[in-house]
Amino acid sequence: MPQHGRGHVWIPWEWGYAVRMPLQIASRWFNFERLADGVTRIWEPHVIRVMQCNIWHVHGRTRDLLIDTGLGVASLSEAAADIFGKALTAVATHTHVDHVGSLHEFADRIVHADEAHKLTSASENFSMMRDDHSVEFIAGLERAGYEVDPCFLTAVPHADFNLQQLSCPPAPATRLVREGDVIDLGDRVFEVLHLPGHSPGSLGLWEAKTGILFSGDAIYDGPLLDELPDSDIPAYISTMRRLENLRARIVHAGHDPSFDGSRLRQLAREYLMRRA
Ligand SMILES: [Zn+2]
Repeated sequence: MPQHGRGHVWIPWEWGYAVRMPLQIASRWFNFERLADGVTRIWEPHVIRVMQCNIWHVHGRTRDLLIDTGLGVASLSEAAADIFGKALTAVATHTHVDHVGSLHEFADRIVHADEAHKLTSASENFSMMRDDHSVEFIAGLERAGYEVDPCFLTAVPHADFNLQQLSCPPAPATRLVREGDVIDLGDRVFEVLHLPGHSPGSLGLWEAKTGILFSGDAIYDGPLLDELPDSDIPAYISTMRRLENLRARIVHAGHDPSFDGSRLRQLAREYLMRRA
């Protein structure tokens, strides 16, 4: 078992002895990048790629939108207080641990009806140590193409952070959405697309006026995960057929860099070639 220490972690090595791996205490936990269209990308640089979710802030006239909330190891509402100036609606593209960690910090919470039950109680403990997870879980991530380091963090948010105890408080939705529902920010309107496959209640947010799609983990420019316990490959195939025909200008995804409409079609086709 890895031993928790102040800013350090003991990693068991394969020949039976442990290596003391220093983990720095991060001076700040979140990074921010302002993009076009009133969109800001927020991310956690000290989280390994497979768990590093993109958090999106979208500026609206009467209300702002926050799409996903990261791992929840540090307070997102405090870190981003200066950009969260007014009414804010937080949307979970789905309920995997790397997307809903700070959801409880926000009063107005939207999730797809098919995953609402996952948010009504505290999440199960999720360790940041690879060895605390099942061999099947790690092998699935590696098969998909990810490198999974011994520790999922490359720094800790504070000295007393416990790498093996991460559980998020309940964050029950205040509004449930389904396909075709609309989220209105005053001067801009996002339509809910139900995009199941990665998870049953995966959703995308589509702004027809600008051609912006926030896609969550339904599609991103990296190894897609369709063999998680709640994944469904036939549903994913239908989702990819739909995404292949969406006239998007830009896709801001749940992981990895944003991409344009032609890359969206290419990624969807690659998936369909592999699975359909
Ligand atoms: Zn996910």
